[in-house]
Order: sequence, then structure tokens, then C-alpha cells
Amino acid sequence: MSNYVPTIGLEIHAELKTRTKMFCDSKNDPDEKRPNVNICPVCLAHPGTLPVVNREAVKHVLRVGAALGGKLADYTEFDRKNYFYPDLPKGYQLSQYEYPLVSGGELNNVALTRVHLEEDTASSLHDDATGATLIDYNRAGVPLMELVTEPVITSAKQAGDFARELQLLLRYLGASEANMEKGEMRVEANVSVRFDKSQIPNPKSQTNHKSQTNSNDQNSKLGTKVEIKNLNSFRAMERAVAYEIKRQTELLERGESVVQETRGWDDAKQKTFTQRMKEGSADYRYFPDPDLPSLKLSEMPDFAPEELRRAMPELPWVRRGRYTKLGVKTEDAALFTSDSRYGDFFDIVSAEFEGGKLTALAANYLANDVVRIIRDIEEREAKYRPEIPISTRSFKEIIHMVGDKEISSRVAKDLLLRAVTDARSPREIAIEEGILGAVSQEDISAIVDTVLEQNRGVAEDYRAGKAAALQYLVGQGMKAAKGAADPEALREAIQKRLS
Ligand code: ADP
Ligand code: MG
Repeated sequence: MSNYVPTIGLEIHAELKTRTKMFCDSKNDPDEKRPNVNICPVCLAHPGTLPVVNREAVKHVLRVGAALGGKLADYTEFDRKNYFYPDLPKGYQLSQYEYPLVSGGELNNVALTRVHLEEDTASSLHDDATGATLIDYNRAGVPLMELVTEPVITSAKQAGDFARELQLLLRYLGASEANMEKGEMRVEANVSVRFDKSQIPNPKSQTNHKSQTNSNDQNSKLGTKVEIKNLNSFRAMERAVAYEIKRQTELLERGESVVQETRGWDDAKQKTFTQRMKEGSADYRYFPDPDLPSLKLSEMPDFAPEELRRAMPELPWVRRGRYTKLGVKTEDAALFTSDSRYGDFFDIVSAEFEGGKLTALAANYLANDVVRIIRDIEEREAKYRPEIPISTRSFKEIIHMVGDKEISSRVAKDLLLRAVTDARSPREIAIEEGILGAVSQEDISAIVDTVLEQNRGVAEDYRAGKAAALQYLVGQGMKAAKGAADPEALREAIQKRLS
């Protein structure tokens, strides 16, 4: 067992979904392929131009903060973070320093430091043919949210889960598409490894490491951190973090030390590599932007925390919990929560089953058989995210038939497949193909006779205006028909007889 324990802190940027950019009315369109079309004098930093705060972006960040249980600022301002780089036309980035929009909060039990709002830089494109670097200013000034966690994550998997949950939240809130592959969400992982004296059985050795912990600063107990950049997927991120933990642990075990630096992730080599050494902490000379007003958020009614909380959609973890409470398996609940096609379908279907055993049955068929049908379509037709090609009505009918033991699960799977292309209802298919016995009009007449004969009281109730009694009688009729009758036809026949 290793005496070295890893610590990870994440810094995550997300491009916000707004109509216009952060401080001007140039379009914010991440899908624009032509370079330098969504630009204006403000985001190109022409002298004499003035920025204006985008309310939509402020609201997105506050909503994220409210969802994460953070403290929403009642006062905020934007600061200039000064540095030179060709993708930064103003020579400073508008960001937030002393007064972030959100402080604290947590996600997946990971404590958050802050969430603030800033602007994105332009994108640099390296042209291999000419060796030149080209700059596309479409992205310059796009609203960017930055979320910073405390250094409390302890594994690559936990870091991945955190980032995935944040992505889901941003999508639920409509704050960002948060696609890692498109750079709409960018994760930087800070990784350190420290010697853990509590893992040493001999209590005497504790004094040997006293010197490491004699500072009041919490962070001084942590090891030297390395920051990893260019992580373009969750997978890359988890691998890079795992690689870095191993690399640092091995260095320390050999008695060497970790150098504080920024490292990149080489996906081909599956290794991190030195990008640049960290020179102390860069002096960005932050100061409040004199061209922008500070915002007294407490005086702005549509940013009131209670208002934001009231207008919150069902959050991913709440939805997941709702499903597991209904008896849905953990991994299926996760699927229904992360993919709205399945989640919305399941919500419609399960509403009828009211948490009974059919709910779990429906979840199973949806998460296994319907998922397989969708995967087949994706492969066969090379379609991206096809809709579920079965109506909730047909699906429910099949679940009812399985639940009532009218059909076997093998037949149910077959009917599900048939429902994709066959316009008939699953029950019709089953009857017409002789899987279920057909029931004639005369049979229905006879069944209605028997049911009314045996349930006189209920029939009276229905006549007296108790609508629910009808459903009971139809149910009795279906039972008598061994499930093979058309419930609509039964209902009509009973209604007619009792009217
Ligand atoms: P810096 O001043 O270098 O930007 P911060 O204290 O602002 O460092 O932290 C930046 C990120 O690094 C945060 O996500 C934080 O949780 C993480 N972090 C800080 N110290 C460590 C450490 N020793 N090990 C791992 N992560 C750390
Ligand atoms: Mg920092």
C-alpha cells in the first residue's frame, strides 16, 4: 500500500449559451465556421469603445450557483486581468477577482471555491502550410463561466464523475452545451501527491514529518501541484490525472521532488509532458474595470436568489433519486437522467404505472431492449441520436401484456421490434398473428354479460356517476378474455350496455 495520497482540484471553463457576446452585441455562435464574422469594434478592442454587461450571461452563472447551493453575490464587479497574448486584443481579459458571482457550494460532495464570469479569448490556428499563426476573433468576448473546486478530490474517477455531473447540470440549466470535444467545456486538473503519515503504522515516525505540517496554511500540507491542460474529453482527463498521480508518486518514492509546472496531455502517447514552468504567480495587476458599472445584484429583482431557485428545473441528481426511489436500477436511472430521450419517455410511461411492479419492468425493457434498438439504428443507418421509434402507447401495451403474463418476455422483445415498423398496435399484431386468441364481437357481448352479472354493485356505482367503476369493469372483462380482447371495444360495449 502506498503512503502517498493524491489530491486533485479542478478549474472548469464553460462557454455560455447566449444570443450575443459578453460585452457587446456580436453574435455568440460556436458553430460559425467562417473566421472573423461575428466581430465588432468592441470585441476587437478598438480604442474608444465601451463594454456593456450581458444580463443573460450573469443570469446563467447565478442559476448555476443557485443549483450548486453556493452563496450568490449581492454585489459584484468585473476586473481587468492584464497580460499580453495575440488572442487577447485588449491586452487584458475582463474577469472577476475579488467579487465572484458565486462563492462556495458543492457538487457530488466536492466543495467549490467559486464560480465567476469572464470573457473567452480569440482562437489561434496554426497553419502548417505557411507556418503562420492565424487568429479568429469569433470567440473573442464570448461569455465564459469559470468554476473552481477546492483541492479535495482524491481520484481520477472522482474527478471524471464531477466533470460529467457538471456537464449534465449545465445542459439541464440550458447554460452551456458543454461539449468537451468542441471546447465548449474545458477542464484543467491540478494534481499533487502528498506523503500520508497516518498510513504509517509506527506512531514514532509521526514526529519525523512534523516539519511538513508546521504551517497554519491548510494547503501547505498538500504536495506541490502540477496543472494539466488540453484535456479534450472526460476519458483523456481521467487518464491524464491517473498518469500524473503515478508519475508524481514514483518521483517521491525515489526521493525526488515534483516541480511546479503546467503540463499538457499527449493523447497519442498517453502521457503528460512539460509545457511551461510556473514562474511564481504571474502578476496580472487585477483592478476593477473603470468602463463597467459594478452591479448591486441585491437590488435587481430578476436576479433575486429566491426567484432563481423557484424557477429551477428538476436537477439531475433529483431526477436520478426520483428514479431509484421508483425501483429503477442505479445504472438505468443514470441513463434516463443523462439522456432525455429515455428519461422523457420513461416519465410518460411510468406516470401510468404509479410505481407498481410494472415500473421496474418498463425501466428494464427501456434500458435494455429499446437501447439496443436505438444502437442498431445508429449503426445501420449511421444516424446520430435517433428518436425512440416506438410510441409510449405501444410500449405501455407491451409492458401490460408482459405484466399480466399474457405474453412471454421473448414475445415481448419480438413485439417491441415489430412496433418499430408495424403500424398496428402490439395487441393487434399479437392477435392477428395468433399469439393471443382473437376475440369476436359475439365473444365480447358474452363477456360483458358475465362481467355485469358478476359485478352488479360496481355497475350500479357506474350508473350513479362513479367514473372509476368503468375502468374496473373493463379490467374484469380483460381478465375474462384472458387479455386477448381490445380494451377499447370492451369499454364501448360496457358503456353502451349501462347507458
Ligand atoms: P493558483 O494560485 O496556482 O491558481 P489556486 O490556489 O488558485 O492556485 O488553485 C487553483 C486550483 O488548484 C484549484 O482548483 C485548487 O483546488 C487546486 N489546488 C491548489 N492547490 C493544490 C494542490 N496542492 N494539489 C492539488 N490541487 C490544488
Ligand atoms: Mg488561481
